[in-house]
Order: sequence, then structure tokens, then C-alpha cells
Amino acid sequence: MTELCDLTGDELSTKLRAGEITAVALAESALARREAVDDRVGAFLTPTPEVALERAAELDTYLATGAPQTGVAGIPLALKDVLTTKGIRTTCGSKILETYVPPYDATAWTRLSGAGSVLIGKTNCDEFAMGSSNENSAYGPVHNPWDLDTVPGGSSGGSAAAVAAGMAVWALGTDTGGSVRQPASLTGVVGLKPTYGRISRYGLIAFASSLDTVGTFTRSVRDAATLLGVMAGKDRRDATSLDADVPDFTRGLDDGAAGLRVGVLAEAFGEGVEPDVATSVRAGVDRLASLGAEVGEATLPHAEYALSAYYLIAPSEASSNLARYDGVRYGLRVDGDDSIEMMFRTRGAGFGPEVKRRIMLGTYALSAGYYEAYYGQAQKVRTLILQDYAAAFERFDVLVSPTSPSTAFPIGAKADDPMAMYLNDIFTIPANLGGVPAISVPCGLDGAGLPIGLQLTAKALDESTMFRAAAALESDLDLELRPPLLAAA
Ligand code: GLN
Repeated sequence: MTELCDLTGDELSTKLRAGEITAVALAESALARREAVDDRVGAFLTPTPEVALERAAELDTYLATGAPQTGVAGIPLALKDVLTTKGIRTTCGSKILETYVPPYDATAWTRLSGAGSVLIGKTNCDEFAMGSSNENSAYGPVHNPWDLDTVPGGSSGGSAAAVAAGMAVWALGTDTGGSVRQPASLTGVVGLKPTYGRISRYGLIAFASSLDTVGTFTRSVRDAATLLGVMAGKDRRDATSLDADVPDFTRGLDDGAAGLRVGVLAEAFGEGVEPDVATSVRAGVDRLASLGAEVGEATLPHAEYALSAYYLIAPSEASSNLARYDGVRYGLRVDGDDSIEMMFRTRGAGFGPEVKRRIMLGTYALSAGYYEAYYGQAQKVRTLILQDYAAAFERFDVLVSPTSPSTAFPIGAKADDPMAMYLNDIFTIPANLGGVPAISVPCGLDGAGLPIGLQLTAKALDESTMFRAAAALESDLDLELRPPLLAAA
């Protein structure tokens, strides 16, 4: 049965405004859903029911006064556990931060909270956001609500699964190489990665600072636009946040696709892409054409080097960022005879295998004698990719590809093969290297009934055009997406 927690943020906001429902009833609906399904899904690491109900009650009092209301007021939100929350444990999916309680809030959350958002809990993720399946969490995997034996994608797997299964109306994740878009694609929800710098990274516990972005999981393109509008904008606490105009991203969503120049990335339909994925994404492009978009073939000639460049740049930055977990300042400490031994033991016990692999890769790539050959070369590839995007966006407003080459795969299938796992992000990584916005929208189901995502990319700061194309496709396809887990509930 469809319940309150299954509606979109936009629908719920209208009902709240009209006094048809209360924020408390809505929070209770999401909390009840978590009680009913999360023992099978595993989306939450730290649920916050008391915080949610108290906040919802406050909001009901406020809303009853008829005071102005934002589009997020009273709507239950889940946060990936790499975003800091004052007074609420934030683990990054790692043993090393198992008991870490931050003294400050991430700016993205501060802004949503200030606009009346209701925090429902912190979600499971790959350790320090490194992974594409959520299997690298120190707290166990997340199961995809569409098929509990498969992964929800990663690294923001808990946030994706929470939204897909109605345990939250929407959620935040982080996207460094695809960690919002890929899990969104695998769980049948909308996943937004904005322009780098659009949303402050303050309080986003760093993985690869030049690539990290805060992103959203929603059940509609409109909801993604609403959340972005609340969070975007300069933050003096993050020097890389952009001082750019923040338009009303919900305007123009219904303008349709007529006249939009859509470039299809020819190279993104080759080897390694599942046939059902290619067919469904091509059908999506045909829909855009039938709505009046001008469709042509586009290319990012250097995108084939993006994955290699990413796996030098991201681990290099990670090896530096993760040096702070030394047993002295935060989280876990395993004592030793002297401070060096203490650090060895703390890091040995606190980090999981994938995080250790990345720290070693990054330390090697940055070491004297190899720096130019590895890190330096990767930075040059990054420049070439930026130039590819600049050329492509002279001809096109948006670029289309599959979000991920496959649909959800069985838990364990790629866990012992890092290369196979890394290939999940082959289509998402270029946008992070280029700093451009990208969104994954559901475009159909494969033969096994698992969701497929179509990725749209636009030039830096042009989320509005991207939203317009995504919304046109979404409304034309009009998919009914309900995971089988809920049909059985
Ligand atoms: N899967 C990629 C990785 O493991 C991307 C992760 C992310 O975007 N946080 O690095």
C-alpha cells in the first residue's frame, strides 16, 4: 500500500501546507517503514527517531501559525554517514570513527535543517566513500530493495536504499567518482551530482577534496532541484565553494525538451555495457527526440583515460586526507609501546582493506621519483577531459550516456576483483574530473526487473538545463517504480 513516506517531497510539502497531514504523521510513517524493512535492507547505521519526532512536533507548531514554509520543511531526510552532525555519531562506515561524535554540522545539513528539514538518521556507506557496492562498510553490506541478494551500488548505498524503500523521502549522499549516481541508477531513484563547488564541502569528511561533492537521492527531478536550491551557494567555511548565482532550480522544469541539443556519447555504448542497459538508454534518447530535442552524436575523446587518472588522483588525495586518523585526535586509538607503534596499530586495526589499498596506491603515486610519472600525468589527463567537455558543450546542451554499465549485481560477485568493481564508475567519473553537473534518472527495468539509469551531464553551473531535460524525460516515461520488497510488505 502506498503510504505517506512513498510520496515525493513536493507532494508532501503541498499536503503539509494545506494542513492535510502533519509533520509528525509523516515522520512516523517513515519510521514505521524502517521498522518494517530495515532489518532486511541495512540502510541505517544510526537512526534518529527521537530527534526526528521532536523536530517534527516543533514544525507542526510552527506550521500551524500559517508562517511561510520552505519546500523541505517537515520532510524526513537521511544523511550519508560521511556528513557531520553535531552530537550525532558520524562513522564514515569505518571502525576508526566508530565512536566519533562531531562537534559541528556539515553546511549542507545546516542549511537544510535551517529550512525545516527533519533528520531521520545516518546511513550506511562504503568506508570513507570508497567503493561501488556498499560492501566495503565496516558495518556490513546494504541490500538492494529491488532484490535483496544484490548490491544497492555505492558508496552511498544506504541513502539510495532508504529512499527507494520509503524509509526516507529523500537523502544526501556524496559523489567523488559516481557514488550518488551509480547507486541511484541501481535502486531506481534520481541521483544528482551538482557542479563541483555548488554545495559547500564543509563537514563532508574528506576523501578526495578536488572531486568530492554533496549530492541528492530523490524520487523526482523536481525534488532534486528543490534540495539543491536550499543547499547551494558560497560558504565562507569552504574556500572552494562557488560564489555563483543560485537560480530557482524548480523554474523551467516543465518547459519540455523541444529545441534542446542532446549529444549521445557514442563511446558509452560499447563493450562491457549490458544489452538491456544500452537498449533502455537508447530508448530514452528516442523519447527526447520525439519531444523535439535535437539529437546528435557527441564524443569525449579522452574519457577512456578517466578511470586510470581517477585511480591516481583520488587515492593520492585520500592518502593525504586520511593521514589525520592517527589515534591522537579522533576516534579509535590502539595503544602501543611508543607513539609510532600506537599509530601503526591504530591504523592497522581501524582501516579496512580497500582503504588501506587506496592509501598505499596514493602514497606510491605521490612519492619522490614517481610523482611526475603518475600523479603529474593524471593531472594532465584531467586537463584534457576538461577541454573535451568544453568542446562538447559548444555543440550540445546536455550529454547522454548510461549511468552505469550494469544493473544491480549479486552481493559478493565483484568483491574480490577491484578492477571489476572500479569499472562500475566508467561513465560517472569523467564528470567528477571535469567538475560538471550530472544526474541519473530511471529509464526502465532490465529483463530481471532491476532498474536502469540514464545519465545527463551539462556544463558547469548549468544544472537548470540538465533538470529541464531530465524532467521532460521523467514525465514522458512516467515510470511506476516500486521495489518488490514493498509489494510484499
Ligand atoms: N566508486 C568510486 C570509488 O570507489 C567512487 C566513490 C565515490 O564517488 N565516493 O572511488
